[in-house]
Amino acid sequence: PHRFDSISLAPPDAILGLTEAFNSDPRADKMNLSVGVYKDAAGVTPILRCVKAAEQKLLDGETTKGYLSIDGLPDYRGAVREMVFGDQVPADRVAIVQAPGGTGALSVAADFLASQCSAGPGKPMRVFLPTPTWANHNAIMQDAGLAVDSYSYLGSDRRTLDFDALISDLKTKPSTGDAVLLHACCHNPTGVDPTPDQWQEIASVLSQRGLLPFVDFAYQGFGDGLEQDAAGLRTILENVDEAIVCSSYSKNFGLYSERVGAVGLVAASAQATAASLSQLKRCVRSNYSNPPRHGAAIVATILADSELTAMWKDELEEMRLRITSLRELFVAGMAKQPGAPDFKFLLDQKGMFSFSGLSPMQVDELKAKYGIYIVGSGRINVAGMNEDRMDWLCDAVADVAC
Ligand code: PLP
Repeated sequence: PHRFDSISLAPPDAILGLTEAFNSDPRADKMNLSVGVYKDAAGVTPILRCVKAAEQKLLDGETTKGYLSIDGLPDYRGAVREMVFGDQVPADRVAIVQAPGGTGALSVAADFLASQCSAGPGKPMRVFLPTPTWANHNAIMQDAGLAVDSYSYLGSDRRTLDFDALISDLKTKPSTGDAVLLHACCHNPTGVDPTPDQWQEIASVLSQRGLLPFVDFAYQGFGDGLEQDAAGLRTILENVDEAIVCSSYSKNFGLYSERVGAVGLVAASAQATAASLSQLKRCVRSNYSNPPRHGAAIVATILADSELTAMWKDELEEMRLRITSLRELFVAGMAKQPGAPDFKFLLDQKGMFSFSGLSPMQVDELKAKYGIYIVGSGRINVAGMNEDRMDWLCDAVADVAC
């Protein structure tokens, strides 16, 4: 018998499926609010000018395509350390491992936790995910062999944090040693982030209960600014001795297809850091051996050059401010529509994503009547909106929502 004959089809990825449908939609005025990437006013995911300049430099100066070491490019790792941890944690207590994107980083970190930190003999470590969270978190953690559980996050209004439920869950559901996954900023899919006071309380509970912060930092610079977006993480790190931070440079450098990310592990001693680094490297070695060079070399080149760094900060700020202004234009546009729901809550949310509050039926109608593509949950990518077509979009949303 054939081994593969009885294999069932895996369910298609809901969001990628929508993109395929969008691409084959013949309507010229269609609009895609479902994808997970930044788009500029022309609807293009641009290559940043600082990236093109860094690539030119690399092309001229590159001397080898030899393998990187298992933990990646040293200059890149140094740059990541500075961006994510600043000088908050002594260097000998931080291990940085370059990884293929934020996804690769999460996967390496999950492998590491599953192999090194059990919840008792024969019992896998548990990781608690917010409800809701980025859909891939669940799959990554489960595939690594971790036990996955959840804690409350979004309120029943689907637009604000249910902080009491979150704290109550963190105080009662996990036990000492369990990991808690937190989005450092720009929570995907809701756009709902904790306030500084709430971060303080979360950090205290993690510390009191001996829980490991497992932080996903995929959108640094897309919320309130580069440093501001690290504030929650800083608060956490002030309160704990151990943490894992998985960062991604897909969004803030626009390097999606180059796969640039990193695992940053904080341990309580230099010795524990060195041992943890050796185990992280073992996870990489048996999985993909060593990371790709190009994207990390771009980031390292930009951050080693003050002019390119300044250019990058300007371009990042331009993306961030455009997202903020699209939020404002949409909310103002909807406020002019008689009988339309109030969308002001979108102004409190951070990053590209928000739950719009549109129902699955309204989402279907927007697609059928107008070619506006939104994920079934109502999650919208604000960056997919367009300044010049805001009235058209608001008329369409009002048509299905009023
Ligand atoms: N984490 C979150 C919350 C994300 O939204 C994403 C990307 O959509 C990632 C991680 C992974 O990013 P990358 O493309 O770098 O793998």
